[in-house]
Amino acid sequence: MLYPSPIFGPVHSRRLGLSLGINLMPADGKMCSFDCIYCECGFNADARGGSPRPTRDEVAQGLQRQLELMSAEGRLPDVLTFAGNGEPTLHPQFADIIADTRRLRDAYCPEARISVLSNATQVTKPAVHQALMLVDNNIQKLDTVDIDIIRRLDRPAPGYDLQAIIDALARFNGHVIVQTMFLTGHVDNTDEQYVAPWLEALKRIAPQSVMVYTIDRPTPDHSLRKADAQTLDAIAERVRALGMACSVAY
Ligand code: SF4
Repeated sequence: MLYPSPIFGPVHSRRLGLSLGINLMPADGKMCSFDCIYCECGFNADARGGSPRPTRDEVAQGLQRQLELMSAEGRLPDVLTFAGNGEPTLHPQFADIIADTRRLRDAYCPEARISVLSNATQVTKPAVHQALMLVDNNIQKLDTVDIDIIRRLDRPAPGYDLQAIIDALARFNGHVIVQTMFLTGHVDNTDEQYVAPWLEALKRIAPQSVMVYTIDRPTPDHSLRKADAQTLDAIAERVRALGMACSVAY
């Protein structure tokens, strides 16, 4: 499934409310520094488009048009969400686009929050860090801290440095929400040998909150299974025992 670009929705998000999506990737392809085997956009190799990313101006113009429309309908979004066909922070104008989005949010829907759903691969870059400090919900993926499972589950591009990323997440000084996909099947990150070190990493990162969730839509790897509610609840309780808020989406 690929999303329209640069604006899609609004859609009702189980985690975020009425969400207007901002997709910084082309509509006809996926661009990501991960290649997760659960990605609803499909495997990178199967989702190659030929179009370029939308420019900063195209994003701002598309967002303004949609906010004008929603304003006229009296149905403003709860959240402006950077997501879609890949990793938003890979866009070379990401920081400028965040600045434009804040300006348009303040003008049309000052109550709305700006969320970025990211895989955390770019958080070591100072410009990306600074831009993410300016959004309301800086949501960063950390599915496990076991590098073998990361290679099988998230399949990062070469150069992935887990320890540098954990250090960079800690440098947000709490201005970060960690999101973790738990699942089972031929890859399973719910076992204690993975959960205990992940909890240790959370202690180091000290995020403002944690989002625990599982598969909700068809995955390109058909053998994956949802983590059950009991498992997710037990993990969430252990996060809360560390003094962190934790939401669960089943
Ligand atoms: S990080 Fe997100 S967009 Fe990228 S492959 Fe994984 S699920 Fe898909």
